[in-house]
Amino acid sequence: RGAVAIAGTRTIPAVSDNAAPTSDAATVADSDSVARLVNAVKVFGEGDSAVRAIDDVTLSFKRGKFTAVMGPSGSGKSTMMYCQSGLDRLSSGQAFIGDVDVSTLSDNELSVLRRSKMGFIFQSFHLVPALTARENITLPIDLDGHEVDQDFLAELTGVLGSENRLDNRPSQLSGGQRQRVAIARAMIPKPEVIFADEPTGALDSKTSGELLDYLRRAVDTLGQTIVMVTHDAVAASYTDTAVYVQDGRLVGQESNPTVDDVLAKIKELS
Ligand code: ADP
Ligand code: MG
Repeated sequence: RGAVAIAGTRTIPAVSDNAAPTSDAATVADSDSVARLVNAVKVFGEGDSAVRAIDDVTLSFKRGKFTAVMGPSGSGKSTMMYCQSGLDRLSSGQAFIGDVDVSTLSDNELSVLRRSKMGFIFQSFHLVPALTARENITLPIDLDGHEVDQDFLAELTGVLGSENRLDNRPSQLSGGQRQRVAIARAMIPKPEVIFADEPTGALDSKTSGELLDYLRRAVDTLGQTIVMVTHDAVAASYTDTAVYVQDGRLVGQESNPTVDDVLAKIKELS
């Protein structure tokens, strides 16, 4: 998996060893990171009612890792994910996918980049009711007119434990099963990175635990990179790194977080 390259877009030149540590240094593509924010700012509204939903965040998401973006409701997690993935645009600063600055892309180029490099999992599953689980999973590939990798589909649904449910429609599946279908759909095009926004938000704790296990396994066995927005300490404990945001600012980062670590951090912040 090489760096993202889109014809006609600017790539960031490497900085030599003796280069001054300006903010440019932070924009150097490093093969370790799949997605990066550099001095990212997002303001909603104007004047007195303006909200700085993202307030000067510089951060990189590592390849092959499972990262949690943690923070209380309204702290800017979703906005960060939307701007990072090009679903929304920053007010200033940069959002890179690989070495592509998404702010330089047209809406058309962005949707191509999203379809080819990113997968999304949302709290509401966005499955098509009239299609079977299998058809839902392969829909993005079918729409692009590409051939579905049947071996990978089998591997994926095996890992996710949804292989017996492939001919059922969403209405015949439990919440957890639907979310697994949504995960398989996000993973089947082998995206560089999956962005998940509160993927366990609509699930009970048992189903939620199973789902987090599947995400963890996708990272460990398939090398999938996942960025997961959550406000749940248990969810964060499944990840390699927890990143903390508050009032749109980055306020902490922790490797291999345990539930206790995360709860302590949340307490410290509140
Ligand atoms: P989180 O996902 O952490 O709950 P959000 O990113 O949804 O937080 O929101 C961060 C802040 O930005 C909140 O104050 C929210 O009200 C505001 N916000 C989010 N989206 C919009 C929008 N489209 N228009 C105006 N304000 C918004
Ligand atoms: Mg949110």
